[in-house]
Amino acid sequence: MFEKILIANRGEIALRIQRACREMGIKTVAVYSEADAEAKYVKLADESVCIGPAASAQSYLNVPAIISAAEVTDAEAIHPGYGFLSENADFAERVEKSGFFFIGPRPETIRLMGDKVSAKNAMRQAGVPCVPGSEGALPESVEEVKRIVKEIGYPVIIKAAGGGGGRGMRVVHTEAALSNAVITTRNEANAAFGNATVYAEKYLENPRHIEFQVLADEYGNVVHLGERDCSMQRRHQKILEEAPARGIPPRLRDKIGERCVEACSRINYRGVGTFEFLYENNEFYFIEMNTRLQVEHPVTEAITGVDLVQAQIHVAAGEKLTLRQKDIVFRGHAIECRINAEDPYKLTPSAGRITQYHAPGGPGIRVDSHIYHNYRVPPYYDSMIAKIIAYGDDREAAIARMRIALSEMVIEGIKTNIPLHLDLLSDSNVLSDAVSIHYLEQKLSRYNKK
Ligand code: ADP
Repeated sequence: MFEKILIANRGEIALRIQRACREMGIKTVAVYSEADAEAKYVKLADESVCIGPAASAQSYLNVPAIISAAEVTDAEAIHPGYGFLSENADFAERVEKSGFFFIGPRPETIRLMGDKVSAKNAMRQAGVPCVPGSEGALPESVEEVKRIVKEIGYPVIIKAAGGGGGRGMRVVHTEAALSNAVITTRNEANAAFGNATVYAEKYLENPRHIEFQVLADEYGNVVHLGERDCSMQRRHQKILEEAPARGIPPRLRDKIGERCVEACSRINYRGVGTFEFLYENNEFYFIEMNTRLQVEHPVTEAITGVDLVQAQIHVAAGEKLTLRQKDIVFRGHAIECRINAEDPYKLTPSAGRITQYHAPGGPGIRVDSHIYHNYRVPPYYDSMIAKIIAYGDDREAAIARMRIALSEMVIEGIKTNIPLHLDLLSDSNVLSDAVSIHYLEQKLSRYNKK
């Protein structure tokens, strides 16, 4: 096992990874930007290195600074967390070439799955059902594009092959709007991801977002840890997730889980990963794979009892998976609410000093957060400042606990989306039904019209 791991991330996930390391007796190195110098997890780490100014491009995305921090501290492995460099194949390669272990898949796997066009092709070959769409990238010729899209049938969604974080996609309802949409998405994709490749997919009108968690070692042993429903999204970004997903026929779940496991074997996958699907009319359609730990991993941990971060570290160190598929038993129900520093309905970010903080607790409640009384939420990064995870014997019990936790949580001095979560957890549609990926946007637009 490693003696020391460098955590190339910030915020709650830096703390989460640090906690896993401490439990395993592994020393940690925190890297931080000037804006995060006061963060508690930086002080709690065994060592810490400032890697640059506030702007992510000069700190959390600064590959040479991170590699040299690992060198000067003698770390053996680098954990990238999520976001930032976690799905950057060039980074993973640099890490390995510099003599460190990368806690994640092989660079070539990240590259394959990071390009959504090649990922879809690989999944199709592995027998994973995909959203119907163009066979690969859209060509330059407008006429050709029109022909391809007509065959798919409107509405379609034009997506950037290199897209991520809910950016780089555009829905098109008519042929008249097509060529403009393709050009704009191409330009945006080129500017944001350095890759102008776009493809077209059938736009599903009312799907749910359901994803499968997998875990694989170096030696071809793979298990899946069931699914999560992440349909509650705004701007294609998740805010509330739960496991298991409601109403999925057990045989269908097993079948899709098995397909994901097979796909991992075929692409020689290593580490934790997530297969994201849209689910409509009892069918699953693959949209992309995330080759890293997900924000919402704790709901899977809650219902399986598996510590995914520790498992990730074990397999990165070359250990064999001891878990077998039959050992993975799903028990109870878990919900996660992402607490964001933002206006709950307008979604505008709200940075600043937290003047009062009280965390919730009690049976079945887990809070993953790096914030504290007097902590200053910096304006430079993602707005998520905490995650509450509620576990119960069934969905009703988990929701009841979550409601209490949300009502107990006090964060003053900045705005948070706690009121929105409370609203969602008393919404009769959310309580009785499994809602689609558009539900929250529709609710927000009604609210903002009032
Ligand atoms: P990203 O990598 O940016 O997260 P994804 O491909 O995972 O992009 O898509 C993010 C979200 O966008 C999905 O969860 C879903 O809400 C929406 N979306 C993506 N593809 C489609 C589609 N074909 N039809 C309808 N909605 C889609």
